[in-house]
Amino acid sequence: MDFELPDDIKMFQRALRDFCEAEIKPHASHADESGELPWNAIHKMPALGLTGLQVDEEYGGAGMDTIAASVAVEEIGRVCGSTGLSISAHNGLGCGPIATWGTPEQKARWLPVLTSGKVLGALALTEPQAGSDLLGGAQVSAVREGDEWVINGTKAWITNVRFAPVITVLVRTRPEGGSRSFSMLLVETDREGVTVHPPEKKMGLKASPTHMISFENVRVPAENLLGEEGRGFYMTMQTLDSGRISIGALSVGLAQGAFEEMVRYAQERHAFGEPIAHKQLIQEKIANAAVEIEAARTLVYKAAWMKDAGKDYTKMAAIAKLKASEVAERVCFDAIQIHGSYGYSREYPVERIYRDQRLMQIGEGTSEIQRIVIARRVLQEFEQGVLLPA
Ligand SMILES: Cc1cc2nc3c(=O)[nH]c(=O)nc-3n(C[C@H](O)[C@H](O)[C@H](O)COP(=O)(O)OP(=O)(O)OC[C@H]3O[C@@H](n4cnc5c(N)ncnc54)[C@H](O)[C@@H]3O)c2cc1C
Repeated sequence: MDFELPDDIKMFQRALRDFCEAEIKPHASHADESGELPWNAIHKMPALGLTGLQVDEEYGGAGMDTIAASVAVEEIGRVCGSTGLSISAHNGLGCGPIATWGTPEQKARWLPVLTSGKVLGALALTEPQAGSDLLGGAQVSAVREGDEWVINGTKAWITNVRFAPVITVLVRTRPEGGSRSFSMLLVETDREGVTVHPPEKKMGLKASPTHMISFENVRVPAENLLGEEGRGFYMTMQTLDSGRISIGALSVGLAQGAFEEMVRYAQERHAFGEPIAHKQLIQEKIANAAVEIEAARTLVYKAAWMKDAGKDYTKMAAIAKLKASEVAERVCFDAIQIHGSYGYSREYPVERIYRDQRLMQIGEGTSEIQRIVIARRVLQEFEQGVLLPA
């Protein structure tokens, strides 16, 4: 087993590091203050494959494996959480379902648009009254009328929807309930009856816009069905498994960004006659952060590798996301602590990163839901006598 990234991914990472340092990092603070994504950088992303990480090249994507895609999201997250979340959601939630389940016509229609760097993709699962419990609580409905679906209801907290010409929407197509009662529909956002509400006022990730979207008798043609009717819940779970690797990678990037700020500051700031980096209590925080980030990154790579190897990676994706998001919280907490008062100031990046990372324990399944997923799998494995590690 090779514990190093392959040379081609290392080269990609180096190119990405340069791009992110030059094109995104200088604008991250302004993005947070203004609420505007750094679109000049996003327009340049197709050249690096960042707007179609795992989309086939014929549709303008880069056709990368999941480890390379994780490296990409980590590198963007390292310099800007908002850009990291929007690009992660665009790839995993926006492009992912269409690339995985789209018909040749749906892929040809939408993937080249989505990978162009001019728009961003989105997936609408959550509703005002249901996030973790989509099966029991999601109510947005689609009723078949002739050759059309008629959609009614409201989705909430949808990343990138403001920039998306089309979104994938989880809809209830059978009123009787159960996991076969959901389907996925592609909905063009300029259709009559679609309303994108004002952006949510958030704690962090302020440049990555999140909106509620309502559907009032929105009609889409039958061919907008994505995948099989009745498979929407299964598709949701599969998309979230994959998305969790990406949120894990983004969490590692946020932790890495805060870590670098923390170490630099500790070396520069003097107290009691020497740099605070010489103090053992400060070194303890630095060492803990180094260990935790390395552990989280390794888990993200393992989940990515399992996905690419065609293994069942549900548990590992949940483990990676849970660990990485909790590491991001701890590292950012300590990064602020090491900065003292300056860590509490908006003038220093650690304050922004601390706010940005908080979402990682909520989005694409809360930490409680990850623990439920992990425990359920562990219990199943014990029942089946599968006790060797994957
Ligand atoms: C910035 C941002 C971006 C987002 N982007 C998107 C997006 O692009 N698309 C999308 O569809 N959604 C998106 N979301 C929504 C997000 O995925 C949900 O908010 C999340 O899944 C949690 O759902 P909820 O907020 O309804 O919480 P709830 O499900 O109401 O949960 C509330 C609390 O109860 C806990 N809880 C729930 N069930 C259990 C249980 N069985 N046992 C123990 N505890 C439990 C939860 O862990 C949580 O702590 C986004 C949210 C934010 C904040």
